[in-house]
Amino acid sequence: SAAQKRKRPDQEQFKHLPLRPPVVTIMGHVDHGKTRILDAIRQTHVMESEAGGITQHIGAYQVEIKGQKITFLDTPGHEAFTAMRARGARATDITILVVAADDGIMPQTLEAIDHARAAGVPIIVAVNKIDKPGANPDRVKQQLADQGLVVEEWGGDTIAVSTSAKDGTGIDELLENILLVAEIEDLHADPNTSATGVVIEAEMDKSRGAMTTVLVQNGTLKVGDIAVIGDVFGKVKAMFNDQNKQIRKAEPSTPVAILGLPAVPNVGDTLSVATNERQARLHISEKAGRKQATVNLFSLHDQIVSGKVKELNIVLKTDVQGSIEPIRASLEKLTTENLTVHIIHAGTGNVTENDVMLAIASNGLVIGFSTGIETGAQRLSDAENVDIRQYDII
Ligand code: GDP
Repeated sequence: SAAQKRKRPDQEQFKHLPLRPPVVTIMGHVDHGKTRILDAIRQTHVMESEAGGITQHIGAYQVEIKGQKITFLDTPGHEAFTAMRARGARATDITILVVAADDGIMPQTLEAIDHARAAGVPIIVAVNKIDKPGANPDRVKQQLADQGLVVEEWGGDTIAVSTSAKDGTGIDELLENILLVAEIEDLHADPNTSATGVVIEAEMDKSRGAMTTVLVQNGTLKVGDIAVIGDVFGKVKAMFNDQNKQIRKAEPSTPVAILGLPAVPNVGDTLSVATNERQARLHISEKAGRKQATVNLFSLHDQIVSGKVKELNIVLKTDVQGSIEPIRASLEKLTTENLTVHIIHAGTGNVTENDVMLAIASNGLVIGFSTGIETGAQRLSDAENVDIRQYDII
């Protein structure tokens, strides 16, 4: 069955551990309703709203449905998702792809699909705005099928839920399907060990100092722990949950804002816990040593020859739609028995920062045909030593 097929083998060794809530992000084209769906879910399902209390935004929230929790990351869009991956963090278990039923699949929808696929994260589609007079869910399903996402009612294994974030239609069904996919994904974690996690938001609070929101991914984070995040460490002085309530410990998949770090870390930095200061410093130097190797063609040739690189991930940008398929085909023809060429994303227009991010996250490179490079993209590729190859003649 589709469920068996999708089971992640790497979860096998964690089988004996308790299940943890899934962590979900939301993606899709601008204005298709990502923010409003997140709001609709929050409004109907936050676990225990404090009467009168204003919930400070901490970058994520948890809901409870049928006695089971789901964690939502509050920054919508594949940009944030891939930026996090580019820093080496896998925070998301499931992604909701929002497609407005009156608008259909648009360029950023296609990008989102490619970014989710490159990360190997399962997609649940929310066909949104079905309350609108111009809504045409069947057209969306056809467009999804054209992208290889065949919905279940048409014999495929893509879950699609019709929603209206405006009147709440389908929101519960969406949540139930998240639980279903979470069950298939079989997400376990060990609450009885020291915490590891990832930074999902960080800012300087005028009165409280560095406020770092961390998603605990394994173990339990406690007040008093020495948290090592990126290249800083500090004792956790206080922790707040998504209800702005002070808590003393946070289990796997829980987002918490922590106080006590001497500086503001970066989003995507990983968290670990040290037993003392000396060990904390050791953690930091180890992390620095593990900085992900990036691909450029100079190093690539040697790595291919020596068999170290077996897959080449390419982000392809062209000036016109018509050249994507022929270029894709000729690049894929470079596949040999020792090297598989994957075009993980192809689109038209200038090379963007987001394209470079995807290349970093996938340990790949960007190839542009008759396109320019945006300033931010150039800067990022220089900083991270990722190749952007430009060609004019096909
Ligand atoms: P985002 O850019 O994807 O985050 O989109 P937003 O959530 O900001 O929504 C864009 C616009 O569409 C806003 O004016 C929303 O109120 C509206 N909108 C979102 N979902 C729905 C829906 O289900 N039905 C209707 N009629 N409008 C919606």
